[in-house]
Amino acid sequence: MPRKSLRSSKQKANPVDDGGSRMTEKKFLTFSPFSTFLVQDDDNVNHKFQKNNICAILPSDRSPEESLELWQYWIGQVVEIRAEEHEDGTNTVWVKVKWFYNAQDTSSALKSFDASVIDPWERLESDMHDYVESLAFEDVVNLKTFDERDPFQSFIPRETFFSRYQLGYKSRQLKPKPSTTGCSCGQPYNPNDMDASMVMHFCPRPSCRRAFHQRCLVNAKSKESLNRTVTVIDPIKADTKAQASRKPRQSTSKQASLKQVGPTLSPRSLRLLACSPDTDEVVDLASLIPLTIVTQTAEDASDSSRPRKRARTSKQSSATQEALLEQPRSLVDVLGDMPGDLIRIAEQPLVRGGAFVHGGITGNICFVSRARQLVYSILEGEALPDDWESVIFQEEGTSIDNAIVTLKGATRSIPPVVCPNCQSAI
Ligand SMILES: [Zn+2]
Ligand SMILES: [Zn+2]
Repeated sequence: MPRKSLRSSKQKANPVDDGGSRMTEKKFLTFSPFSTFLVQDDDNVNHKFQKNNICAILPSDRSPEESLELWQYWIGQVVEIRAEEHEDGTNTVWVKVKWFYNAQDTSSALKSFDASVIDPWERLESDMHDYVESLAFEDVVNLKTFDERDPFQSFIPRETFFSRYQLGYKSRQLKPKPSTTGCSCGQPYNPNDMDASMVMHFCPRPSCRRAFHQRCLVNAKSKESLNRTVTVIDPIKADTKAQASRKPRQSTSKQASLKQVGPTLSPRSLRLLACSPDTDEVVDLASLIPLTIVTQTAEDASDSSRPRKRARTSKQSSATQEALLEQPRSLVDVLGDMPGDLIRIAEQPLVRGGAFVHGGITGNICFVSRARQLVYSILEGEALPDDWESVIFQEEGTSIDNAIVTLKGATRSIPPVVCPNCQSAI
């Protein structure tokens, strides 16, 4: 049944409606079915529409002469196309559409919902259908689905139609429930909130996969502190633990090499890096590195107090080979060999929000998740792909600018927040 209040077919393009009679399912089904229809614009260019296309449709209260921004159109999906044949040989093409509601439609359908969090380009997939005359169709548009809980959600730039909720018009319910996808405060993600403290930090772990407002995390003291016991993945301890069953290492040489890598690999960075989209466990980065068989020279073996040479050095001076040793490369060495930009992306917090302008609607979530997976695979001995950037930036037009968190109007650096659920760095 067509709705009475919101949308009737565009008046100027709908002679039947002008006559006061609405299209009904019964009447529609008496017309001949078609798979496509064409609409010619003012420049005599044909626009083709077919079943399942998601289309911009001129709102009934707008004149065809008005020039509208694309986001001002109604959005509907073509469900069925039928043509009404008239006695004079002409016909009228009618299209059954499923509506995608904008913020205004949603607030009138769902009074309890704060529609101010709905972006101008956002639409809610409704369960409501209508019959629209073909001349009201403007163009086919690209509408992306946005799953707020998916750590690999493809990047959605701003000024792109997207949909994250389904609206049951009669049941007056949203799916998924906003309270299950967002922050504990209950306020859904607002892509247009320009307050830098209102960006959301996402925890990618399988049992979390929620985003929390930075302000809510700070207010709840979900932050790392100096005496916080989150040092399981402290690089030195983790490395020592990984090597314990092999041969003890001298911690002084370890600390020295850690310094060489510089501030990029701060303990906070390593904790962010160890928060994986694939496991609820803290990733023990050092333990991912496989054992390498190397030969040891007689000179090395005679002086066990000296730091061991690295694998490649040993191979080069293997004139007096004496024994085989298993020695994994250190975490710092392997990370140090990776492109600096890859590490920089992987160690970012996963953030989305209005103040993260280059993060688009979805934020840097998929880029960082992909970068972390790539870093883990390289630690495990896989080769760095030549085109590693295209592995991370799969969406056209995206680059490292979309991955590095820079917040417009931020007066302080990003606080070291943790997930209130699993306590990992986010
Ligand atoms: Zn919140
Ligand atoms: Zn978590």
